[in-house]
Amino acid sequence: MSLSGSAAPAPTAAGPVASAAARAHLFTTGTVERYRHVLADGIDRVATRIAAADRPCTGVTPDDLAPRVAAVDLDRPLGDTGAALDELHDVYLRDAVYFHHPRYLAHLNCPVVIPALLGEAVLSAVNSSLDTWDQSAGGTLVERRLVDWTAARIGLGPTADGIFTSGGTQSNLQAMLLAREEAYARVAGSSTTRLSRPEVLSRLRVVTSTAGHFSVQKAAKLLGLAADAVITVATDADRRMRADDLAATIARCQRDGLVVMAVVATAGTTDFGSIDPLPRIAGICTAAGVWLHVDAAYGCGLLVSPTRRHLLDGIEQADSVTVDYHKSFFQPVSSSALIVRDRRVLRHATWHADYLNPARMVEQRIPNQVDKSIQTTRRFDALKLWLTLRIMGPDAIGALFDEVVDRAAGAWRMLTADPRFEVVTRSQLSTVVFRYRPTGVGRDLVDAANLHAREALAASGAALVAGTKVDGAHYLKFTLLNPETTLDDVACVLDLVADHAGRYVRTAIGGTMACPVA
Ligand SMILES: *Cc1c(COP(=O)(O)O)cnc(C)c1O
Repeated sequence: MSLSGSAAPAPTAAGPVASAAARAHLFTTGTVERYRHVLADGIDRVATRIAAADRPCTGVTPDDLAPRVAAVDLDRPLGDTGAALDELHDVYLRDAVYFHHPRYLAHLNCPVVIPALLGEAVLSAVNSSLDTWDQSAGGTLVERRLVDWTAARIGLGPTADGIFTSGGTQSNLQAMLLAREEAYARVAGSSTTRLSRPEVLSRLRVVTSTAGHFSVQKAAKLLGLAADAVITVATDADRRMRADDLAATIARCQRDGLVVMAVVATAGTTDFGSIDPLPRIAGICTAAGVWLHVDAAYGCGLLVSPTRRHLLDGIEQADSVTVDYHKSFFQPVSSSALIVRDRRVLRHATWHADYLNPARMVEQRIPNQVDKSIQTTRRFDALKLWLTLRIMGPDAIGALFDEVVDRAAGAWRMLTADPRFEVVTRSQLSTVVFRYRPTGVGRDLVDAANLHAREALAASGAALVAGTKVDGAHYLKFTLLNPETTLDDVACVLDLVADHAGRYVRTAIGGTMACPVA
């Protein structure tokens, strides 16, 4: 009896042929020429698109774009790189949002430096995974050097360490994890009665300011803390944490039998670019024995500023620091790190798996970064910063950041001198929060006009600005991270905002009011 009975499908040539064709796409020793050509094609398309970008976006809507994306049959490949890039133009490149454009003034997205793009190409091609030494070799050491370099810039001293992360949200989450475990050990260790873990966790509190980042709230939720675990203290007129309120809050917690596991100070709030008074906050934390985390996701660019490093004074007293190189070091997403004062606290992120990082490897001093990370497989994002520092150097990055901070100061002066607008505070970094404010018009209409102006601007694609709420009212926000943005760009966008908002107001009140639009 034949083993290949008639029920089994007859072998066809399709299998081996398809597999051979597929293998031509694998990046291996035999396909480096294809790699060169395909990547060069892709780079050429991007270069052409960027060169042609006369607006930061096209104003495309989800309804415009969704049918084009839905029409792609993912089970029927085009086979050919050129055709796929043509299609990509249609579904993505033509209508993408271009942070490279000088009139992109919305969120904390920076244009990126070319050395980092080179790094991105190298790291994805070699595809090291930074979890263990046996998957990365030199990548591990490069990452460690950059962590040490950043820690030295912060001024954290010889016991510092850290880890690259996917972003500020993850850095803040890990910082809160470490702080939670330190606080838990302290409370459980000093208690005379045996407290259950849930009992201890329910008493932990995190204190930040009302202008702190929402990822702190998310972290508290993910870490199983109480629903009211994050206490926000007031800010002053410049949107900086009020140190006196912080001290009072910590004292109140202690009186109530609660445990402040961390204070999160912000060095560069997302909306206002304000830097909390770090030296005073550090003093309060030291006196109270509380972990100080500094969220410098935005303000970290000052670490390399040739003229403004002093704005971060006090950061060297932190127990942990979040830095987002993809915010103010002109790095592509993702590039971020959590840096800690005492490397031993990173043990709270350690778990030994037999197949990956058994405990004996620690004794053998094998540098496995997974022992410090909440991720396992992890990109070699550090390479982008490495090439940036090796080609441009830190002063050059700092000079770019200084330039956008200067530009924001110029925009602030322009706005304060313009009767059409109202400005909130003068940012220490590179944001400007403002709104169109015609006189003699009710609050609701002012809100609606500003909301409308933002949307109309985005729909036209002429410029992108952000929006936020200040004390319940709608405001607009510039985040200036592109040194190519000139004050002329800013003036032009302000005219567009005033046009859109002014027209909205005039229509709403039936054209009866003489509008103060110039
Ligand atoms: C952007 C930001 C974060 C979050 O960082 P991601 O990289 O977006 O995850 C945290 N804190 C502050 C102050 C930020 O501005």
